[in-house]
This record gives sequence, C-alpha cells and structure tokens, in this order.
Amino acid sequence: MYDSTFKQLRMKYAYNLASQISEVINSEDWDERLQKILWPHSVEPDNYFSELITENIEKVNEPTKETLLHVLIRDIFNMEIGARLYHFNDEIYSEDTDFVEEFLEENFINILQFYNVAIPDYHEILERINNDYENDSINEDEYEKKIKEFAEELSSLIDLVEDNIVNETFYLLYYDKPFLFEFNNILSSYVEEQIGVVARCSLPEWLKRAVIFRDYGKCQECGWDLSGAYRRLEDRERHLDHMIPLIKGGTNDPTNFQLLCSVCNLEDKTEVIKPEYRIQTHW
Ligand SMILES: [Zn+2]
Repeated sequence: MYDSTFKQLRMKYAYNLASQISEVINSEDWDERLQKILWPHSVEPDNYFSELITENIEKVNEPTKETLLHVLIRDIFNMEIGARLYHFNDEIYSEDTDFVEEFLEENFINILQFYNVAIPDYHEILERINNDYENDSINEDEYEKKIKEFAEELSSLIDLVEDNIVNETFYLLYYDKPFLFEFNNILSSYVEEQIGVVARCSLPEWLKRAVIFRDYGKCQECGWDLSGAYRRLEDRERHLDHMIPLIKGGTNDPTNFQLLCSVCNLEDKTEVIKPEYRIQTHW
C-alpha cells in the first residue's frame, strides 16, 4: 500500500519548466530575463518579487508546504500559458487551418492528453468551424471568434493539471541547492526592504525529515555522515542551516534550509557561502 507521499510523477513538462526557471534565476541578468516572461502581463520583475514577499508574509515567517518557490513556479507556468494564448490570438488568420490545429495540439492538447484529461473531440470541432466558414455560414470575424473561444476553453482546462506540473517542477528544483540559494538571494533584498529581519521559528518535523532526506543525511559543508541521524542523533548534533541567514534577509521558507553538522554550523563565518550541487551517486 503506497502512502500519500509516495507519488507517481510524469516529468515531461516539469523538465522544461524547471530548466526555464533555473536559467532565469541563475543568470546575472535575471531581471531582464524575467522581464521577457512578464511583459505580456505588464508586471515589472522588481514589483513581482516585492509582491511575492508582501503577499506571502506567512510563508516568509514560517515554513509552509506550499513554499515561496511553488508560488513562483505557479506564476511562471500561468504566465507561460497566458502568453501562448496571447500569441495564438495574435497569429491566427482564417486561411491557415493547419496552423490552428498544430498550435492547439502543441500548446494545449498534448499537455492535457499527457495527464489523461478528458478533452472535447477537437478534430470534429475545428472541422465544423472550418466548414461553416467555407460554406459562408459564418464570416471571417465569426470564424476567428469561434476559434479563439475554443482555444480559451482548452487553455482553461490546463487548470486541472497545474498542481501536478507545479509539484513536479518543485521536486526537480528542490534538489538544486545552488538554484535555491540564488532564489533566496534574490528574495533577500526584498525581505530586507519590506520586512527587515525575519524572526527565528521552531521548525516542523516534516521539514526536518525532508531536508535530511534531500541532503542524503550528510553535512553539506564537510560531508560528515549524519545518516541514521533521524533516530540516533539529537537536534543539537544535526542542524538545519539557513543558507541565506535571517540577519541578511533570509526567510524561514523550506527552500532556504540545508543540513549541516553542529561543528560546521557553529563555525564563525564572515561570508555567506553558496552551496555546491552535490549528489549521492547510486553506485
Ligand atoms: Zn560539517
């Protein structure tokens, strides 16, 4: 019997979205890159992050399972879907029926079918609209209106798969600590500006388990093996470290923690160290 945390993942779309988001956050000109995603929605990157903090203060102050990164992934995914619809409405013209069908398949139908969402028989619907147009039952404007309405209907079905895609993308990105560090680093200046210093809070068991599990039970600085630590060691021996310290604009969001041994964590550090992407190889 599987428990609810042992999930089946369908990673196809998550890989694309995760690589798109990590390219933006990891680049030095992240604000320009984000601007390219945000422009159809008239949102400035600066305002976006500022609002991400102010609208999610509870996530900044205490760990929540729906993290600040979930919010970012969800927003970028929705903007991406919105942009697809925007381009479609911009490019559609009545003569090119192949374009319409290919565009809808590529941008909406393939995703829905991949997640087994029941969709209308689009071949039949498009054929009917085309026939009406060719028989002059509808004029060009009406043709475009019907096609756009159908595209809108398909894009709204994407809501049904949004949670899956967001959670799958989060799963991929949560293993990438240099990415998480950069994400929290970007957030830190907005946290300092909007909130100041976030207070330390007690960390829930689910988060401790998750970070120990994700970090292979090893201190992420010296590699000291803390595995089996969950039962044997006390909290004072394994530390959940804020990658961006609270004093420097760090948050209590689950994306800002890594596992350290007590020795590494208690060392006096003058600078904030970006973690490396380390994995435990399978053999
Ligand atoms: Zn250590």
